[in-house]
Amino acid sequence: MKELGLIGGMSFESTITYYQVINETVKRELGGLHSAKCILYSVDFDEIERYQASGEWAKSGEVLADAAKALERAGADLIVICTNTMHKVAPDIAKAIDIPILHIADMTALELKKADIHRVGLLGTKYTMTQDFYKDVLIAKGIDVLVPDQEDIEVVNDVIYNELCLGIIKDISKEKYLKIIDKLVQKGAEGIILGCTEIGLLIKQGDTDIPLFDTTLIHAQKAALIALEDH
Ligand code: GLU
Repeated sequence: MKELGLIGGMSFESTITYYQVINETVKRELGGLHSAKCILYSVDFDEIERYQASGEWAKSGEVLADAAKALERAGADLIVICTNTMHKVAPDIAKAIDIPILHIADMTALELKKADIHRVGLLGTKYTMTQDFYKDVLIAKGIDVLVPDQEDIEVVNDVIYNELCLGIIKDISKEKYLKIIDKLVQKGAEGIILGCTEIGLLIKQGDTDIPLFDTTLIHAQKAALIALEDH
């Protein structure tokens, strides 16, 4: 089994899900008492969030590159960055290491293709929804990406940073998200990417008929399956 190097803590609320899903997938595949070989480097999210807010992405890239280097030295075969937003600095991290990074948007695009979805709504942080680093990965695979209007982008983003990343789950926020999802469907979305690793804590597939693509589940399951390839 390959050893996974997880860069987590962004936020730790969703890193818990990664750890659980990776282990459950290995257990399901191998049975018995099997569990995943993985190493977690959990950062202080306060530092990362400050760099995001001040636009100092290069500095946050340095912190995460140092984490990736430590994971490589510790024996990791593959890096999993447990957040969508921080894939903005994935190229900086990749330059610092000799092991591959399993890109969350690549894995999500594969699932969209499998489901034959060509136009998708994207929910995530304001950085993920408004900047190009994430959408471009999907567009390059022939997938059209719709994002909410400016007012709704603020709502989605506020709920992520002021509630979900703090472990606060509110019914009122769930209602707001479901309304925003409906608007994206009316604009032509055939599915919705939960493109922030905490959104799955608020919205589940049972809450709506539109197909949801929960990036945490997709990324974690894929990482576990790749770790088991050639096993
Ligand atoms: N975990 C979130 C994401 O998937 C947001 C926190 C962050 O900014 O990293 O984008």
